[in-house]
Amino acid sequence: EGDFAKRTAARLEQIQTQLKAKPRGYRLKGKVGIITGVGSMVGIGRAAALQFAHEGAAHLYLIDFDPTNLPNLKSTIEGKYPDVKVTTLAADAADDAAISGVCKQALQEEGRLDVFFANAGIATQQPLHDTSAETFMNTMRINGLSCFLALKYGSEAMLKTNPSRGKELGGGSIIMTASVAGIRSGAGTVDYSASKSAVNNMAQTAANQLSKTDIRVNSICPGLIETGMTTGVFQYARSKGAGGKIGQLNPLGRYGIADEIANVATFLASDDASYVNGQNIAVDGGLTSSVPVVP
Ligand code: NAD
Repeated sequence: EGDFAKRTAARLEQIQTQLKAKPRGYRLKGKVGIITGVGSMVGIGRAAALQFAHEGAAHLYLIDFDPTNLPNLKSTIEGKYPDVKVTTLAADAADDAAISGVCKQALQEEGRLDVFFANAGIATQQPLHDTSAETFMNTMRINGLSCFLALKYGSEAMLKTNPSRGKELGGGSIIMTASVAGIRSGAGTVDYSASKSAVNNMAQTAANQLSKTDIRVNSICPGLIETGMTTGVFQYARSKGAGGKIGQLNPLGRYGIADEIANVATFLASDDASYVNGQNIAVDGGLTSSVPVVP
């Protein structure tokens, strides 16, 4: 256990050090983006907001229904990247009026919307027989409807963007955070897995409908990532002296960190991904493509 934990810690430290030393890039130069679920200090949304800023985004609209950490995120970005404009909004990512409103706001203020990263989500813990209809609908609403609204209003705003390409050409990137639980059953509760399967399917269906407008739609399927959502899992394992075993059966032999998901979101947001469309991209160390073997 000790060696395993040490190796994981060393590798993750190396990844974080490399990221910190990465020179500023401009892969998102001039782009206007919306990200939901940015409020967790250790979450994927915050990591993505910082990376989008690092890559020179022009204006980021950052949303979470929990306002606690929004001022910190805004001042961190503005302090580090004075050329990036930040607007934070305390809102529910599954609220029709809030999402339609922020898309309109981006158009009004910047005349464009280039990226929508629909990342907000909740996980549930209860087994099937303890899942009420209300819990099921709430998980579908937050995880599923939030992505639908990003697709509907995000693409509408993107279609009014980029007049130089011709209005009909639109252009833009919509990225949604699904999960490995939306690819393979076994991980997650029934309501959570169902909601993430819906996200994966929406990525494919919407990509098809929008492809003539050059709006790309993709979902990211993270494996086990240490964030606010999984704090309980990590704390429990560590309290039992089994911290080093977390991720042991993963082909890479470890769990992941938020920046490793943000790296992929940043790529998908950029024009480097101009031919990546309609994909459910697993970022899981190889978990969903492997048969676990005893180490
Ligand atoms: P996190 O809990 O650290 O962050 C999620 C953030 O989303 C929180 O700040 C929360 O307040 C916010 N949020 C939740 N519901 C919201 C709503 N309705 N409106 C606005 N904000 C809302 O967890 P995370 O791991 O960074 O989660 C990001 C996404 O990644 C989620 O969609 C989650 O399902 C997905 N995911 C995470 C893992 C993992 O192992 N951490 C694995 C697969 C998928």
